[in-house]
Amino acid sequence: MNDMTINPAIPFELPALFEGRHLINGAWVDSASGKTFERRSPSHGHIVSRSALGQEAEAEAAIAAARTAFDSGVWSRASGKERATVLLKVADLIEQNVDRIALIETLESGKPISQSKGEVGGAADLWRYAASLARSTHGDSHNTLGADMMGVVLKEPIGVVSIITPWNFPFWILSQKLPFALAAGCTVVVKPSEMTPSTTLMLGELLIEAGLPAGVCNIVLGYGVPVGAVMSSHKAVDMVSFTGSTAVGKTISAAASGTLKKVALELGGKNPQVIFPDADLDAAADAVVFGVYFNVGQCCNSSSRIIVHEDIAQEFCYRVIALSRKVKFGDPLDPSTQVGAIVTPEHNAKIDTYVKQARASGATVALGGDRLTVEGLGDQFYQPTVITDVDPDMPIARDEVFGPVLSVMTFKTLDEAVALTNDSDYGLSAGVWSTNVHTCLEFARRAETGTVWTNTWMDGFPEVAFGGFKQSGQGREIGRYGFEEFLEVKSVVMRIGNTRSPWVPED
Ligand code: NAD
Repeated sequence: MNDMTINPAIPFELPALFEGRHLINGAWVDSASGKTFERRSPSHGHIVSRSALGQEAEAEAAIAAARTAFDSGVWSRASGKERATVLLKVADLIEQNVDRIALIETLESGKPISQSKGEVGGAADLWRYAASLARSTHGDSHNTLGADMMGVVLKEPIGVVSIITPWNFPFWILSQKLPFALAAGCTVVVKPSEMTPSTTLMLGELLIEAGLPAGVCNIVLGYGVPVGAVMSSHKAVDMVSFTGSTAVGKTISAAASGTLKKVALELGGKNPQVIFPDADLDAAADAVVFGVYFNVGQCCNSSSRIIVHEDIAQEFCYRVIALSRKVKFGDPLDPSTQVGAIVTPEHNAKIDTYVKQARASGATVALGGDRLTVEGLGDQFYQPTVITDVDPDMPIARDEVFGPVLSVMTFKTLDEAVALTNDSDYGLSAGVWSTNVHTCLEFARRAETGTVWTNTWMDGFPEVAFGGFKQSGQGREIGRYGFEEFLEVKSVVMRIGNTRSPWVPED
């Protein structure tokens, strides 16, 4: 057991230090350099994990293992039934290990334990859905090309995929990618964020237990440079599937262009919820509060701005502020906590700078606007914050603040609401609240975002594709569209009988 002091109000024994090693070709290995890095809990301050620090050598070894495994056909040519059997077993194992995995997820990320349990347990369904796709992959057949011709379009695994993930939903986001890549028959190299490496390794243990052949899934620990950079540029990699910031997404896209790899990018967002006067205002206010504080706003889908009709703006803000005061911010290990810690002190300072800048530019901080101290845990927390009188050109209205900070803007007409929604470099998601179905549908069709929620927020399903317009990304994740990203298309054109006339003139 770890002997560090934790919040005396929550009697809790911390798990032993998690020692992480790379998974390369089915074996757990240290770095050749012998170097390691540590992750401190953002909420409790103790060291949660010590991980092998990968360099170019480890990234290259993992890529070589994935390449060899792919070319051997052990997985890429396995039947859909064989692949699905392994994926279903992984789903069962995830469910059997929810508590163990969720605890490390919470300690490394700072998210509430109830949320971690929901994300880890919920991820099992992504694995089950991907298993169903493994058995139902098919292409097209063309039977109308003439009596002596037939064409079939095959779907094949794209090859070796580099999967690079962020710290905000380590287990969930990996499960939005990995089972789909495996269902397609790809082999992979995974690099989790240096801030939350351990639950990816725990999943690696489950993959071995489920019988995934050696080399099919490799995990390398370390920083974006050099590990992620090698994974994005190496010639033996066929595709990079990345979730993270837009800035790093652009770097990866440039690195991958050297060998014209396929790149799928899930990036940032500045997602609005638009509230019309005829909406169910109680439900909308609750969804706004959920949308902005979930994961302390450190969420690509954070609804960090609302665009509310001017006739109801004041009343709606009162409701949002009243609900905000009731949300339980606090110790992530407390089962009743809804909102936990900020990932790093530097990020907390960045959030605070945005708020101070907005105030200095004339916006009103109607609620919060400062660091939050949780008794016994220090100040790596931020207050629920609502900012009104926001000008659409202010950084707080345009940038991904990634904190529990809501910017409020107003509109008069649907055209104006659509214009404000689309006046963004991002295009991940948007929401509309109205009891008029025509208003909702018109908004949904005109919003330049990959997802539109109507009278709800952040409901998602393994079946429904997710991804962004504009600088929120390219390609799609989950659903059949997400699965298709990991498939290559091959056309086979066949002649029936000896009906081909010679191209070279006969003598
Ligand atoms: P980040 O871009 O800093 O890091 C993401 C991953 O990229 C990490 O594993 C990191 O080590 C790696 N990396 C960093 N530099 C690299 C490089 N040069 N080459 C290759 N890999 C490199 O993002 P983050 O701070 O971990 O996560 C937060 C961001 O992720 C936010 O912008 C958020 O919106 C975004 N995100 C998007 C989605 C989505 O589905 N659209 C979901 C979650 C998070």
